[in-house]
Amino acid sequence: MSRKDEITNPQLTGRDDPEHFFSLLMGNLPARIWIKDAIGRYVFVNSRLTSELGIEQEKWIGARDEELFPTIGQVYWRKDQQVLASGDPLVSTDQVERGKSLFVVRFPLAIDGKDHVGAVGVETTEQMSALIGFFHLRDELFRNERLRAIGEMASGLAHDLRNILNSSSLRLNILRAKAGVDFAEDVDALARTVNAAAERVRGLQEFVNERPQENLESCNLAILIAEAVEMVDYLIQKTPTVKGGAVKLELDIPPSLPKVWAFPNQVKHVIANLLINGREAMPEGGNLFIESRLLADTVEVALKDEGTGIPEEVFPKLFEPFFTTKDLGTGLGLSMAHDVMTRLNGRIRAENRSPAGAAIILNFPIAE
Ligand code: ADP
Repeated sequence: MSRKDEITNPQLTGRDDPEHFFSLLMGNLPARIWIKDAIGRYVFVNSRLTSELGIEQEKWIGARDEELFPTIGQVYWRKDQQVLASGDPLVSTDQVERGKSLFVVRFPLAIDGKDHVGAVGVETTEQMSALIGFFHLRDELFRNERLRAIGEMASGLAHDLRNILNSSSLRLNILRAKAGVDFAEDVDALARTVNAAAERVRGLQEFVNERPQENLESCNLAILIAEAVEMVDYLIQKTPTVKGGAVKLELDIPPSLPKVWAFPNQVKHVIANLLINGREAMPEGGNLFIESRLLADTVEVALKDEGTGIPEEVFPKLFEPFFTTKDLGTGLGLSMAHDVMTRLNGRIRAENRSPAGAAIILNFPIAE
């Protein structure tokens, strides 16, 4: 009996036997499955993995990634360690042999009371892996943006508290001089409390001021835009909108633009996020445009859509962190864009278009 018969006619075999179904599943699932122990040694690999990599089963068992895949083994091992340390599943897109991408879910697994890491890897298309990569990075950037926004709030609060505590401290000094011996001890105790609070506030200020930096680089905007478009092209142009419409993106970027100062990675994400916003503003579908031109001292990039436009009352809050009008919005896209553009000495503004839609306009400083 062939494998195919087993699948189409399960009644021909032991259909009440869970082990039988398990081995059928393992043998036919279009996925790579493996289990490693807590020090990274393979204890199980399915036949798809052995056949696709052309490494026999015996060579896998007991071996580690660094022996089997000297160049990239360390990367896999780090992900396994993350799962072991956190006890949580980890989803990632792994680059494997010959430029293939696998969508991999690693998860903790106890076998005979010992920690192991199980994994299932499914091959993804290039577009899907770009998209998954984009959402991962977007999550990461939004996490940073959330921290930044909270940090900014905490920093403002710390600044005000410091002023209040400083003036309390000065008042206490005056009081100490006036109060005489009877109250000296109480005033001193109060002064110590105020100083301790000021110290805590100073610590908080230092903590929120620490932020990771990406270097400003002289960048070719046409390339940054192309890379941003590539990240979200699948979502923007190949996936129907909520109401089943289609979105088309048109680019008008002169090849002769001078280089600009930018944080390449962050700017790419800003542009990609603005494209997603434009798409979300057009539930019925429509056209998106990216237009770029050289002005006196800046290169301008306008992202235009034919969507709902921005209501008048929304304008004042548009760039505020956590401001959103969407049910599932984060309210961080435009605030991140504003932060990135400000830090690179550029500008960002929003306007409505006639007859419909909105435009977000970015200005970059020229690097040449
Ligand atoms: P989110 O997209 O998660 O809501 P953003 O900071 O990117 O967060 O956007 C904040 C709000 O600005 C959106 O909820 C929406 O109301 C408005 N907005 C952003 N882009 C557009 C656009 N292209 N057209 C209309 N409104 C927009």
